[in-house]
Amino acid sequence: MNIILFGPPGAGKGTQAEYIVNHFGLAHLSTGNMFRSAIQNETPLGIKVKSILDAGELVSDDVVVDLVQEETTKDMYLAGCVFDGFPRTVAQAESFDHMLANKNTAVDALISLVVPEEELINRILSRGQGRSDDTVEGVKKRLTVYENETKPVLDYYEKQGLVNVIDGTGSVESVFERIKNVI
Ligand code: AMP
Repeated sequence: MNIILFGPPGAGKGTQAEYIVNHFGLAHLSTGNMFRSAIQNETPLGIKVKSILDAGELVSDDVVVDLVQEETTKDMYLAGCVFDGFPRTVAQAESFDHMLANKNTAVDALISLVVPEEELINRILSRGQGRSDDTVEGVKKRLTVYENETKPVLDYYEKQGLVNVIDGTGSVESVFERIKNVI
């Protein structure tokens, strides 16, 4: 089972991904976590993407797709995976579909977490993870990038009948209940 967890920054993708993987025994692939870990470890990839993450912009499609392609060759992804923060552009979604088709698998569902913008900004600024992109400007920039580049991914998967819209407000547990019902 391959699930895309979709939504703007601050929608709770990371938190819900953890709940889903624990409950359904799936792997978790977060491109954002992979980039942050590369930055922390000062790998060539980390050095390349640091300024992009700091600016709240998107890493180029070819870099992201190569990273996911390489990561998903690992056996731990065979039973299925929650993709968190990927795909984030229509080009990534197209490459992703090809990638999965080559493995004789496909996206089973996209879960779109919906949270009002004001709450997104409050959540990000109060989560206090010390992420270097968690400034008011950084958040606004990421929301704009989401609107312009990432939201069209919804239409792409809507055409395949895979989109499930979930209310992302309320307690973490109540959001997870809604997700469980859909899965
Ligand atoms: P996230 O933790 O998912 O919000 O990702 C943090 C940052 O990593 C984003 O603001 C982007 O700069 C970068 N990033 C993560 N995933 C992607 C992706 N699929 N495509 C492009 N950039 C990404």
